[in-house]
Amino acid sequence: MPVRLRMAILWVALSLITQPPVFGDDFKIAATIFPVADIAKHITGETAEVLTLLPSGADPHIFELTPQLIKRISGAALILMIGHGFDDWVKAAGESVPGARIVRVDEGIDLIGTEDGEDPHYWLSFRNARIIAKNLTHLISELDPNHESQYQANLEVYLEALREADEAAKAMLANLKIHEIVTFHNGWQYFAKDFGLKILAVVEASHGEPTARHLVRLTETVSRNRVQALFIQPAVSRSVANSLAHDLNLRLYQLDPLGSNQHPDYIHLMLANVRVVQEALGNE
Ligand SMILES: [Zn+2]
Repeated sequence: MPVRLRMAILWVALSLITQPPVFGDDFKIAATIFPVADIAKHITGETAEVLTLLPSGADPHIFELTPQLIKRISGAALILMIGHGFDDWVKAAGESVPGARIVRVDEGIDLIGTEDGEDPHYWLSFRNARIIAKNLTHLISELDPNHESQYQANLEVYLEALREADEAAKAMLANLKIHEIVTFHNGWQYFAKDFGLKILAVVEASHGEPTARHLVRLTETVSRNRVQALFIQPAVSRSVANSLAHDLNLRLYQLDPLGSNQHPDYIHLMLANVRVVQEALGNE
């Protein structure tokens, strides 16, 4: 037998002995959105399979679980959700995926209140991502205590990466000419708070067509203030956004709150958004 093959067999045999039997390849975690799935992946490393439920380009506020997705998450031990009306559709998985814990990841996060309750877009903040990462480490370690020290070590590395990214982002936005912005969707309050931006107005009232009265007020706000940029996101119709930006005399920019598997990770997604804001509002 060639030496290399013998070594390979020995290695497999050894790894079978040393690997704890808990979960192994069967440890499956699902998250409703890519950013949370990515944070979970940074904690588990290769120990678990982590799935994102929301397909790329879909609007999480109006999404519904498909039978195919329910099939994909069968056997999941943990289903991670944002909550506060954002992704209630995932609760339908509860009956179909027996044994899965469906958990909100916001414990300990300072939520921002809105007219309709708490603003669910809390992952768009590096500070909150650190809290989410800690919450996930706790949840995952509870389910798979054999790897707890590994998860804790992964958490420490990831917290440092998040802290560095936050610092880099703040440095990029430290000397903006303008801090006032208008967003199409009311999804950027946490982001704005962290980076010292001021959301003067939101086009969408509360996930519906803006009323005529709302648009009149919006136009007044824009004309009275020093604001130049309108931020949309992928779910917004381009033609609607273009004509609105034209009417309001604002330049149009696109932010992406969700990303997808095409993005390398949550940190890059956030930094890409920071770069868009930097370009839109200009450095002094
Ligand atoms: Zn939203």
